[in-house]
Amino acid sequence: MVFSCDAFDSHEEVVFVSDPACGLRGIIAVHSTVLGPAIGGCRILPYADDTSALRDGLRLSRGMAYKAAAADVPFGGGKAVVMADPSTQKSPELLRALGRFIDGLGGRYITGEDVGTTAADMVEIRRATPYVMGMPEEQGGSGDPSPRTALGCFVGIEASASHAWGHSNLPGARVLVQGLGNVGFNLCRLLAGAGATLLVSDIRREVVDRCVDAFGAEAVHPDAVIDTPADIYAPCALGGVINDRSIERLRVRVVAGGANNQLEELHHGDALRSRGILYAPDYVINAGGMIQLAMERLGRDREETERRVRNIRGTLTSIYRIADAENVATNVAADRLVERKLQSRSAAAAA
Ligand code: NAD
Repeated sequence: MVFSCDAFDSHEEVVFVSDPACGLRGIIAVHSTVLGPAIGGCRILPYADDTSALRDGLRLSRGMAYKAAAADVPFGGGKAVVMADPSTQKSPELLRALGRFIDGLGGRYITGEDVGTTAADMVEIRRATPYVMGMPEEQGGSGDPSPRTALGCFVGIEASASHAWGHSNLPGARVLVQGLGNVGFNLCRLLAGAGATLLVSDIRREVVDRCVDAFGAEAVHPDAVIDTPADIYAPCALGGVINDRSIERLRVRVVAGGANNQLEELHHGDALRSRGILYAPDYVINAGGMIQLAMERLGRDREETERRVRNIRGTLTSIYRIADAENVATNVAADRLVERKLQSRSAAAAA
């Protein structure tokens, strides 16, 4: 049989797992262990078919490898995808069966939470394997990663402001935060503390009111976000917000926020660049939570975790320099930074 999948990118190892007794059907994809064991969450979704699940696993594990490498943590990227409806088909037996397969990889892949899984599920998987991160705090885990994701976004916004205007002073800067959930609300707190003027939007009225009351923010209707003038737009809700329909309408100088997959397509990074809008690559600026989990895994303290999250500022600055020097979009520059890092490590290992 000829194997063909557009998401295949020289992944080191892809394992199909099945246990009919508990209904487990899944795929564990390890993109790379060049920098260390592959980390990445376990996603449980009722995929339309096996090919969709495979493509998702391949794409997400590659994404994790790039994220970990950009963040300078000694880990590679992986992902587990399970083809099941988490609300009806997820069971302790299924989670433990998956744990046994993960255990069989001998530590080359370490799982964690993702769409369709919770910290409680990690406790169940932990019964079958030690290769799990993101345990609940009372069981030695490092707790909610969102505040660290928000901190990374905050220092990333400072780095972006610095590159765009030559200074990272936020007082007076108008920052438009879309999505006031775990990441967005914490980001608003940090921005307000730095003296930024906040414009906030969410489809949940109560969280908007909370930001207006707590930080003196101005509310923006969810349908008006893209057309609202601001200095910085921080997407912290959904992916795909930078697309053919939004780019021409944006009235901002910087896009820097925590949402995953902000560019609908990779070429939208070029489109932003042509409009003179500086884009902070999402997987770099939103890596704070992943850094926390990586540090939890390594048994490092809060101080080191925070220092490494703050390093996102320096990483973004390097990416902006590469983008300028090589005349490419910032998302391309980020990928180049990572690919050079992986190549030089592979070459050093082979020597
Ligand atoms: P969350 O679910 O807590 O918050 C998302 C918020 O966006 C909610 O308040 C929701 O009401 C709002 N929202 C949804 N649609 C909206 C719309 N059209 N307009 C305005 N607001 C809308 O999620 P989160 O944990 O804060 O994560 C936010 C984003 O950051 C996601 O894309 C997530 O994948 C990404 N991310 C999160 C983390 C983390 O540590 N939580 C880490 C990396 C990336």
